[in-house]
Amino acid sequence: MPLQKLMSRLGETGAECALIESPVNRRYFTGFHSSAGMLLVSADRAVHLLDFRYFEMAKQAAARPGLQTRQARDFLAAAREVCREWGISSLGIEAQWQPVARATRLEKELPCQVVWDGKLDRLIGELRAVKTPEERNKIAAAQQVTEAAFVHALNRIRPGVTERTLTAEIDCFFRREGAELAFETICVAGPNSSLPHGEPSAYQVQPGDFITFDMGAKLDGYCSDMTRTVALGKVKPEQRRIYGAVLEAQTAVLARLKAGMTGKDGDAIAREIISREGFGECFGHGTGHSVGLEIHESPCLNTADETILRPGMVVTVEPGIYLEGRFGVRIEDMVAVEEDGVYNFTAVDKTLLEL
Ligand code: ZN
Ligand code: ZN
Repeated sequence: MPLQKLMSRLGETGAECALIESPVNRRYFTGFHSSAGMLLVSADRAVHLLDFRYFEMAKQAAARPGLQTRQARDFLAAAREVCREWGISSLGIEAQWQPVARATRLEKELPCQVVWDGKLDRLIGELRAVKTPEERNKIAAAQQVTEAAFVHALNRIRPGVTERTLTAEIDCFFRREGAELAFETICVAGPNSSLPHGEPSAYQVQPGDFITFDMGAKLDGYCSDMTRTVALGKVKPEQRRIYGAVLEAQTAVLARLKAGMTGKDGDAIAREIISREGFGECFGHGTGHSVGLEIHESPCLNTADETILRPGMVVTVEPGIYLEGRFGVRIEDMVAVEEDGVYNFTAVDKTLLEL
C-alpha cells in the first residue's frame, strides 16, 4: 500500500512528518479525491483532514489501514493541533507543488520546522512511478474505454466530417462510459496533422488525408493515452513510407524496452531508426512519458532522462514524424515495464488503415 510505503520511508526525507495538500497526491495515498484537504503522515500514523463537503463521502469510502479521517473547518488550525498532539518538530511539504506564498505561511503558522527542500517530492515521485497491481488494473480499464471510443470515431469518418465533430464524438463517448478526459482530445487531419498538439478545427477531412487521434479516458482517477494515425482513402507512397518508418521505430522500442534501461536508452531506439530514415529533424519531441493519476508523469523516454526504468512503471511509446504544412504521423501505445520486456495495454491494430 502506498501509504505504508510512505510511512516506512519517511525517514529518508529527514522530516518527521509529511504534510500533503495536492489533490493528486492525497488521492494516491488515501484513495479519496477532494478538491481541498490536508494529509499528515508520520512514521506510524496518518490523518486526512477534510471539510464538511467531503466528510460524509470519506466516511463511506473504503477504509485504509493506519488512516484516520477528521473533519476540519480551518485546515491550518487543525494541522497545528495535529503537530502538537503528535509532538512533531519537523514537517516536510510538497516543495514542487506549493506556491511560495503558501509555503511561507505554513512556515510562519505551524509550530515546527517546515522543510521544503524537495526531498518529499522526490520520495513521492519514486513511489508513484511504480504502479501497484491495483493501479495497473485501473489504467487497463481506462485504456479499454479509450479503445472503444476510437472504434466509435472510426465509424464516423467520411469526407467532409470536421476534426471538431470527431473530437466531440470521442469526448461524448467517454462521458457516457462514466469517464473523464485524461487530456484535451487531439484530432488533426490533412495539413493539420503535422501539428503534434494541434487543436481540433472546422477543417473537413478530405480523401488522401491522414487523421491523427491522440486520446485518453480517465477512469476512477487513472489516465490512459493512445495515438493512432489513419487515412481516409488511399495514401501516396511518401505517406506510406513515413507511416512505415514511425511504425518501425515504435515497434522497435516495444520489442527492446525493459527494466534496467534508462529513459534515454528507450528514446534512442526510436530516434536512431527515424534518423536513419532521414527524418531525425522531423521528430521534435520525446518518445514517451509515464502515465498514472496524471497524464504526464515521470520518468520520461527522452534525450535527457537518465532514470533507470523499473518493473511496474507505466510509460507511453509515441514516436512521430511531422512534415511542416503537409502531414504528420504519430503512433502511441501505453506499456508497463517488466523485467524482460513490456506488457502492452494497447490492443488496437497498427496496420495502416485506409478507410
Ligand atoms: Zn497521447
Ligand atoms: Zn502521450
